[in-house]
Amino acid sequence: MKTCDVWVFHVGRGVAGAIRTPAGKWIIVDLGASSDFCPVEDFLLNNLPIEKEGERRNLEQLIISHPHNDHMTALKRFDENYTPGFLTVPNDNDGQNDKKKVNWERIQNPDDELTNYLREKVLLGRQPPLVAVKDNTEGFHFEIYYLDPHVCENDEDLSTSNYANNISIVARVYYKGSVVLFAGDMMKDGMKKLIDTTGLGKRLEDSGVHFLVAPHHGLRSSFSVDLFDKMKGGKSALNIISEKETIADSNEIVDERYGKEDYASGHKVQIDGESVSKRKIRTSVVGHIRMRLFENGNRLVTTGDVVL
Ligand SMILES: [Zn+2]
Repeated sequence: MKTCDVWVFHVGRGVAGAIRTPAGKWIIVDLGASSDFCPVEDFLLNNLPIEKEGERRNLEQLIISHPHNDHMTALKRFDENYTPGFLTVPNDNDGQNDKKKVNWERIQNPDDELTNYLREKVLLGRQPPLVAVKDNTEGFHFEIYYLDPHVCENDEDLSTSNYANNISIVARVYYKGSVVLFAGDMMKDGMKKLIDTTGLGKRLEDSGVHFLVAPHHGLRSSFSVDLFDKMKGGKSALNIISEKETIADSNEIVDERYGKEDYASGHKVQIDGESVSKRKIRTSVVGHIRMRLFENGNRLVTTGDVVL
């Protein structure tokens, strides 16, 4: 039976995900990494091995939701081994509509090493189209949604301090009625704008979300009531938190609502070989996560190193 597999890796703090479409195409969504786990070294090179020493292998698509270090730690390692057919990242390449160009001065990172690598080594010479790779398997759709950087910088509804997060590319996987949503690091204001001004709103109404990779690592400051309100049924089945380092007693902690009945109906999850019903799972607790969407509409969520 055909499946679509979607992974969210435990990268300590940050986000790294992968999608294998029913036809076997690969889409990488963000490249966070930790000292214990690198999505390139410990996953991709095993599943998509390099056939000839020193050669790069093609894969269908790399999406860097936005140029923050916790979403591209393994970018160099990726670039040394793979060439993506589509390189999808907010960017400023010549030839693009000005409204889509990133203002790099508004991108803050602890250091510029990765941003410089992205701009000078990965993006240079490419005209990355902000489009989603196609897989024509019946019942499968992959889509991306984003706000133009110009809007994030100038729209009066949006705080400019949220600029770098609100330019995030949001990715939606649909297979035979099952939906996974990668929400990037969208802030509340940006998520509302995205729902109101792109086709995402209608998709949410029509098909809902089964597995939500929570916006901005599940932090309180990004909990979007608008997102849940728009979803068919008003809740997801399971909320997935890819961790960021959190500071106690601040706004920077995972929002408890992700685990509440109002925001998740619950879904079976395989943890250490046992099937447990969960509303929210965190990578820091369960480790790596794989969501398997079956052709017949069934869904299986498995956690731990067995999914690698
Ligand atoms: Zn982040």
